[in-house]
Amino acid sequence: MKYSQKTRDLSQLIAENCTSCKRCMKDCLFLQKYCDDPQELFDRFLTEDLDPIVPYSCLLCGRCTVVCPLQLKLDEAFLAMRQDLAKEKLPLKQLKSVRVHQWLSTSRLFCGWNLGKKADK
Ligand code: SF4
Ligand code: SF4
Repeated sequence: MKYSQKTRDLSQLIAENCTSCKRCMKDCLFLQKYCDDPQELFDRFLTEDLDPIVPYSCLLCGRCTVVCPLQLKLDEAFLAMRQDLAKEKLPLKQLKSVRVHQWLSTSRLFCGWNLGKKADK
C-alpha cells in the first residue's frame, strides 16, 4: 500500500518526536493492544507498513493529543491512513457489512422517503 505524503509526514512527525513517555497509553486500550509506544508504532508504519486493522481501531477521540506533552496528533495520522486506504478501496473486510447496512437503510424499499411518497398520493 502506497500512503500519501501527508500521511507519511504526519507519521514521521510522531516517530521523530515521541519520547515514549507513554502518557497517552494510560487510558487508551487501542494503543495498549497494538504497540509498545507510539514512537515504535509509527516507526513500524514507516518502515514495514501496518495491518489496516490498526488505523481502523483508533477511536479518533483525541485524548492522546490532550495528554501528550508535545500535543502529538496521533488521531490525525490514523485518520489520514484510513482516508488513504479508503481511496484505494481497501477498507477492512469487516466493514463490508456496514456498506450493505447503509445501502439498505437508504434504499427506497426501507426508508421513510418511500412512505412519504405513498402518503402524498
Ligand atoms: S485518538 Fe486513538 S490513539 Fe488517541 S487516545 Fe483516542 S483511541 Fe487512543
Ligand atoms: S504522550 Fe506523546 S510523547 Fe508521550 S508516548 Fe504518547 S505520543 Fe509519545
